Amino acid sequence: MARSAERRADVRAVVPGARSVIVTGTVYNSVPPYSSGETPPESAAISRYAWGDDYHDVLKARLDGLLAWMRAEAGEPFEARAYVDTGPVQERVYAQHAGVGWIGKNTCVINPELGSWLFLAEIICTLPLAPDAPALDQCGTCTRCLDACPTGALVRPWVLDATRCISYLTIELRSAIPEPLRGGVGAQVYGCDICQDVCPYNQAAPVSSDPAWQPRAGLDAPRLPDLWRRPDEDWRALTRATLTGLRRNIAVAIGNSGDAGALAALTEHAPDRPSADDPIVREHVAWAVQKP
Ligand code: SF4
Ligand code: SF4
Repeated sequence: MARSAERRADVRAVVPGARSVIVTGTVYNSVPPYSSGETPPESAAISRYAWGDDYHDVLKARLDGLLAWMRAEAGEPFEARAYVDTGPVQERVYAQHAGVGWIGKNTCVINPELGSWLFLAEIICTLPLAPDAPALDQCGTCTRCLDACPTGALVRPWVLDATRCISYLTIELRSAIPEPLRGGVGAQVYGCDICQDVCPYNQAAPVSSDPAWQPRAGLDAPRLPDLWRRPDEDWRALTRATLTGLRRNIAVAIGNSGDAGALAALTEHAPDRPSADDPIVREHVAWAVQKP
């Protein structure tokens, strides 16, 4: 982020002469229960956004279609670039200014009717489009997200310490999860939705019927021992996450579950799971089986 700070500060650094930013919010909420709901102790929690297809690919294709329509309709040539969570764009800031939603105390963009299960994407263009009214903060005196965060990552309203956030610890971090934070990771094996699950604006959030966002088999509250026993080959087809990172996370979640059957799975010998022999994974397995 530091490397791209200058480009992130002004979209005209990526599209010279930019006049407008179009922000789209795509609802990806699906029917199954929230990860913090009533699930058996040996269940794993996987972040809702990862249940369906890879949103980068799906939304980029849709933005390209929108851009083609704009070019056909505009009646004049213009420069434009489309981004889906990848470019040097402060997308939540633009989303607030574009009226998609306000940035909540949990740092997510919240729409008062749609909630925060939204994929954001944007088109930066040189067309002088009429702006929408910005969204207004509607968090009020609520502090549910701060109270619910199990690792204290929301250090104060709107301030997220990424190094404590389970999303960072389970997806971005390549090394060992710091021991003092492992208990707080709970059953989360890939990302964390807790500060969105508890948000009042998500309690009646609409559900998408889009096939792209429906859960792939076994990704909504799967059983921890089943996840651990998946051969490495299966995982490669399912996710872009690193296998050692996933096994590290599953080991921590099994340690936190205290479930005897799941703990037994951790120490099985299985040649179809070579990533389980990675030193980082083994250290987390040792932590899990010794956890009181
Ligand atoms: S995603 Fe989870 S760990 Fe991160 S701030 Fe929200 S509740 Fe806390
Ligand atoms: S839980 Fe409350 S404070 Fe947190 S983002 Fe939602 S409305 Fe805002």
